[in-house]
Amino acid sequence: MAAWEENVRKVVPYTPGEQPNCPGIVKLNTNENPYPPAPGVLRALHEVDGDALRRYPDPTVGKLVKALADYHGLSSAQVFAGVGSDDVLAMSFLTFFNGTKPILFPDITYSFYDVWAGLYGIPYECQPLDAGFYIRTEDYLKDCGGIVIPNPNAPTGMEKDLAGLEEMIAGNPGVIVIIDEAYIDFGGQSVLPLLPKYENLLIVRTFSKSRSLAGMRIGYALGNETLIRYLNDVKYSFNSYTLSAAAIAAGVAAIRDDAYFKETLQKVINTRERMGQELCRLGFSCLDSKSNFIFATHPRYPAKELFESLKQDGIYVRYFQKPRIDQYLRISVGTDAEVDRLIQALEKLVL
Ligand code: PMP
Repeated sequence: MAAWEENVRKVVPYTPGEQPNCPGIVKLNTNENPYPPAPGVLRALHEVDGDALRRYPDPTVGKLVKALADYHGLSSAQVFAGVGSDDVLAMSFLTFFNGTKPILFPDITYSFYDVWAGLYGIPYECQPLDAGFYIRTEDYLKDCGGIVIPNPNAPTGMEKDLAGLEEMIAGNPGVIVIIDEAYIDFGGQSVLPLLPKYENLLIVRTFSKSRSLAGMRIGYALGNETLIRYLNDVKYSFNSYTLSAAAIAAGVAAIRDDAYFKETLQKVINTRERMGQELCRLGFSCLDSKSNFIFATHPRYPAKELFESLKQDGIYVRYFQKPRIDQYLRISVGTDAEVDRLIQALEKLVL
């Protein structure tokens, strides 16, 4: 090791899903929405002019923050915007988890949480999901430095009950509880109605899944004014111009088209239900998904082999070589045609 390497910050990074750029593949590996963003988004992007790009964007992300505040019935001071919810979550860890006690999150969950904890030197303790992959409320009712719960959870897709989440939030008034609602629009029950009641609750959301804008990188947090002020203080100590002018315009246009949003959501939900039935017909067991993906295991065929065979067939799904879940595939919900191709490919492998 070179002498200078002693002073290098060494981290174990997050591994993002593959983004292959080959025509004709069926991409069901990163939970993107299979439908395009609302038509107004593309119009808004065409209208972004040279002047908007010549200048720095609005550091307050004012137009998007206002659109989100109106949409959720909150004030602008209760909304924080960032470059995807990864950015919002990273900023939230840095802001709120500055104590010495361990923060708590599930053992099987979004694999970025332990990476941020590692990066910032935040102590953490993973709480095991029960045998049915359910988050147990009682595991989160103890002295800790904070809590992060994704609802629905990833990669299981399962929902945590609202009463259990409220118990966690109410039971930990001395720390911040972050509920990561990346997939909430696909059928879960949001903690949003609890916001006026609990000053330690921060909700994080994204435009990447239900609003078909993963490529634009837009995420946001909702919380009381004090929490949002603290988040902004850290943001302005890090990078003041986060969202681009194009992202702000696209985000506002996406929020305005609620009819399109609801229509695409329903299509994804309908396809998810059909995909679940087809997978069951092929002998898979599927966890009860409230998200835009299904976590499935086959009793006779190793998940890793299925993953590799599907890839050879041009169908990308996600496989995690981790204890307890290494027999599962996480399969994003595609269009009906994409799901047909998946099922046809699986029929050849498992029937
Ligand atoms: N939270 C969860 C649970 C996720 O699965 C993801 C997507 N990988 C994110 C947050 C981050 O999504 P984005 O940065 O695209 O908003």
